[in-house]
Amino acid sequence: MKRLRCRECGRLRDFEPAYVCEHCFGPLEVAYDFDEVRQRISRDSIARGPNTIWRYRDLLPAPEGEPIDLGTGFTSLVKARNLGKALGLDHLYLKNDTLNPTGSFKDRNVAVATNFALSYGFDTLSCSSTGNLAGSVAAYAARAGLRAMVFIPAGLEPGKVGAASAYGATVVEVGGTYDDVNRLCAELADLYRWAIVNVNLRPFYSEGSKTLAFEIVEQLGWRAPDHIVVPVAAGSLLAKTAKAFQELIGAGLVTEAPTRIHAAQAQGCAPVSTAVQRGADAITPVRPNSIAKSLAIGNPADGRYAARAVRASGGWATACREDAVLDGMALLAETEGILSEPAGGVVVAGLQELVAQGRIRRDETVVICITGSGLKTTELFGVRDGHRLQLGKARASDFVRALAEVENAPAGVV
Ligand SMILES: *Cc1c(COP(=O)(O)O)cnc(C)c1O
Ligand SMILES: [Zn+2]
Repeated sequence: MKRLRCRECGRLRDFEPAYVCEHCFGPLEVAYDFDEVRQRISRDSIARGPNTIWRYRDLLPAPEGEPIDLGTGFTSLVKARNLGKALGLDHLYLKNDTLNPTGSFKDRNVAVATNFALSYGFDTLSCSSTGNLAGSVAAYAARAGLRAMVFIPAGLEPGKVGAASAYGATVVEVGGTYDDVNRLCAELADLYRWAIVNVNLRPFYSEGSKTLAFEIVEQLGWRAPDHIVVPVAAGSLLAKTAKAFQELIGAGLVTEAPTRIHAAQAQGCAPVSTAVQRGADAITPVRPNSIAKSLAIGNPADGRYAARAVRASGGWATACREDAVLDGMALLAETEGILSEPAGGVVVAGLQELVAQGRIRRDETVVICITGSGLKTTELFGVRDGHRLQLGKARASDFVRALAEVENAPAGVV
């Protein structure tokens, strides 16, 4: 019922651990028999499933038995009234993927890849990572009893490196950019029989990304939104968001999904957004230098497919200023109480641009994807001016005076 299809030449082959087409070397993806899927699932059968990504197991490369999991997915879709008001949107929603077990949407990919790796007898789980994937692979390997070997560029946020290490992974820090790390991992995939989840298990890994869009549509009452804003690193999440909408139609769960898919990147690393804005099909690689380290992939593996998906949906792409990233994070935290890492700031800044450009109207339904928790990047949150009171001693009169100073109010009004 599940097979692999080449994304370039379209040839089909059996479902097995493979990632490149033997005819044209194009990347493979998982293909489903929708006649069969339609027999098996319905909105009701999904609603009876677990409150995790496994409620969509018929549209995933799922194992035969019970999957190993940490409780990934089915994160809240929050109606963002305050942020919506600030931006002039009446129907703005946040998909809060900071709520996943290790604090990022990567758990969706890794949950799928880990179960695939177990089914096919791999003993080592590995990845090349911009930070969040390393923690996720480390946690799932611990849960599954596999060895974890994670590769990262030097200089990532300490919270991300520390978490991966705490879960027991061997953390390999490599001099250079993520793209150098990824090239190394592609070589290692030929040397070791490891499940390098985003390299030789990429067709299975990337399927996990679809569940974010599945959930959004289900949580909106089986209706696709008018717009979705997706942060882009390698482009897997965005490309698979488009695949998810098509599959919901194929499975008969919705009749249409006219969603405009928008890509959000930061100026310091925006190869996909640049291609979309220029109308180019090819991605020109860049050397990343961005505060949004989780998105800092200069030569994105799925960049071309992501750019195509944006264009095909009628969406657009943003490359926000680097200093808009922290502002976006602060705005999200202050208005909605959600602490995100820089990727969330990139998305909020991108949304602001799209609204300012008139690409999104007030009355349309908009979902933005908040894909990573700010609890891993706390070094970015200093106490801001006007938000700090320091008392030498624990005296009420000192507090009254200090409060009056920051609020510019007369002292002694208590
Ligand atoms: C990896 C990552 C992304 C982007 O994922 P791709 O599928 O590689 O484009 C977005 N947000 C966060 C927080 C991530 O860690
Ligand atoms: Zn091919």
